[in-house]
Amino acid sequence: MQLIDGKATSKVIKEEIRTEVNKLVAAGHRPPHLAAILVGHDGGSETYVAYKIKDCEEVGFRSSLVRFEDDVEEDVLLGKITDLNDDKELDGFIVQLPLPGHINEQKVIEAIDPAKDVDGFHPVNVGRTVIGLPSYISATPYGIIELLRRYKIETSGKHCVVVGRSNIVGRPMSILMSQKSINATVTVAHSRTKNLEELCASADILIAALGAPGFIKGHMVKEGAVVIDVGTTRVPSSETKSGFRLKGDVVFEEVAPKCSFITPVPGGVGPMTRVSLLSNTLLAAKRNIGD
Ligand code: NAP
Repeated sequence: MQLIDGKATSKVIKEEIRTEVNKLVAAGHRPPHLAAILVGHDGGSETYVAYKIKDCEEVGFRSSLVRFEDDVEEDVLLGKITDLNDDKELDGFIVQLPLPGHINEQKVIEAIDPAKDVDGFHPVNVGRTVIGLPSYISATPYGIIELLRRYKIETSGKHCVVVGRSNIVGRPMSILMSQKSINATVTVAHSRTKNLEELCASADILIAALGAPGFIKGHMVKEGAVVIDVGTTRVPSSETKSGFRLKGDVVFEEVAPKCSFITPVPGGVGPMTRVSLLSNTLLAAKRNIGD
């Protein structure tokens, strides 16, 4: 069994990005610039945005944080998005999700200029991804593809089972795995799927993105399978300062001995999701220079 080390891989990619930024700056361009819009004070969202800003600093990007209170009106938020769309000094931006209930998330996503949508959530980017055109690919599936590529994992002709069909993880993941460059045969499973255990056990590559901690157990995995654990559920813990720890969708101790490759939680998919946002922002900056 080989552990897929997302943390180490993300460090290597950050170095690569840093080198690219140095080249851009040496050529007289400004550094890539990413902005984040954060609405409210949800603990998880605050943490994710803080990480994104720290990641930008590490690779030499500029970053900006735009904050609104929980009760911000939708029109005000949409107005800010228009400003950011028009800002020539900004390469890309994200709106941290989830948003408060009175704001229509889909409307917000669709207000972002697809050219600046470095989260890859806009229907234009999703559509371009589906038909294999250059696009911003949403960060988690992008990070997983990068892990498979860098660990030289054979995907052609393999049966890939993706458990989960969300717009940001499961669905784009399944589409990418079926593309001509990857060539897997893909099954997408969800909460209404029958015979899920047998289906998982038939997978050469199993991608668990349900958000159900410890759902995938040893008997659900084939000998020699590649297992990618996307799940990151916060569970209470007396062993950490924060009082919680992240738990994956896979029972690692049972599943790992059967695998050819497996991602841990934490340290697998999570760091790759973070670095993929940087990769998309670098791409946006280069496209701007090319304009
Ligand atoms: P989500 O929007 O809640 O979607 C979960 C999907 O799993 C849904 O399609 C759901 O089916 C399916 N599902 C739930 N329970 C199931 C069950 N018992 N059997 C079969 N399918 C089941 O979640 P998400 O945003 O995709 O995230 C999934 C997990 O990945 C979460 O733990 C999240 O925290 C984690 N995540 C991690 C990263 C990272 O960087 N590591 C990034 C994003 C998300 P239905 O469609 O039928 O409801």
